[in-house]
Amino acid sequence: MLKKLDEQVKKDFKEYFGDRDYGVVAVTGEDAIRIFCIRTTNLTDIARLKHGLTPLSTVVLGRTMAGAILLTTLVKHATEQRVLLRIEGDGPAGLVVAEANGKGEVRGFIQNKHLELKSKVVNGKKKFDVKSAIGKGTLTVVKDLGLRTPYESSVPIVSGEIAEDIAYYLLKSEQIPSAVSLGVLIGEDGKVQAAGGFLVQPLPGAKDKNIAKIEENVKKLPPMTELLTSGKRPEDIIEQVLEGFTVKVLALKELSFKCRCSKETAEQSLFLLPVEDLKKLIEEGGAEIKCNFCSTAYYFTPQEIENIIKLKEKEPQ
Ligand SMILES: [Zn+2]
Repeated sequence: MLKKLDEQVKKDFKEYFGDRDYGVVAVTGEDAIRIFCIRTTNLTDIARLKHGLTPLSTVVLGRTMAGAILLTTLVKHATEQRVLLRIEGDGPAGLVVAEANGKGEVRGFIQNKHLELKSKVVNGKKKFDVKSAIGKGTLTVVKDLGLRTPYESSVPIVSGEIAEDIAYYLLKSEQIPSAVSLGVLIGEDGKVQAAGGFLVQPLPGAKDKNIAKIEENVKKLPPMTELLTSGKRPEDIIEQVLEGFTVKVLALKELSFKCRCSKETAEQSLFLLPVEDLKKLIEEGGAEIKCNFCSTAYYFTPQEIENIIKLKEKEPQ
């Protein structure tokens, strides 16, 4: 797909996607500069509901999930290849993890579901202190390309605002200079009002003057949340970032919160427990295994745990 982004194409996208979450990959016609712009409002609100998150926890996880989706630019489009983004800081947020695949499916969790820090007021708007919530530590990206060993690389957290940290990772570990923007806006009712982001990067051969022009465009841009709440869609934001260039659409991607867990994966984690512990669970009347990534609970009756013990005993020692 290589379509010039014009009014008709924008109308088609609006009709097709409506209010759903999606991403657009585009390049400049004149030069090799690529952008991936996403809207993740619904999937961020789903994560909030599944995990029961406070507004600040939602903002931190929402930015991390959007970041993981943007990082799927490192894996093959429309495949099960995955990118996992892990942020381990010393701030009150604790561990924050998000995993996205080439098909646009994302899942994630934040250790501290009930983060509450004083929000600052900037230009009359409430601004959550994500930086203090994260603190200092490391950002790790694990790329699972379906090979035997996933590729893993870490960088120190340089900002704590997440977008800058992802840009730092891309520069240091992947040698890709890029501009990353992320934003999550929470309404008075605690629901996610807008969420999304973009990643713009020059590809080999991009001219310096074109890169400079785009840097200038990015600097002029209002915050991501402001763009989205003013009704801008990913393709509109792309037009603004790539202002002064012809824009061609490379790919479209529907985005959704989707976890890979199942009763089988929960059973596997029970299977790893020593028989003694399993017997204890039977005495307690069963077990509940909760998935970290989506907070879904799987129940196991004493009879089911009994069967797991039988299977374990059949296993060669
Ligand atoms: Zn799950």
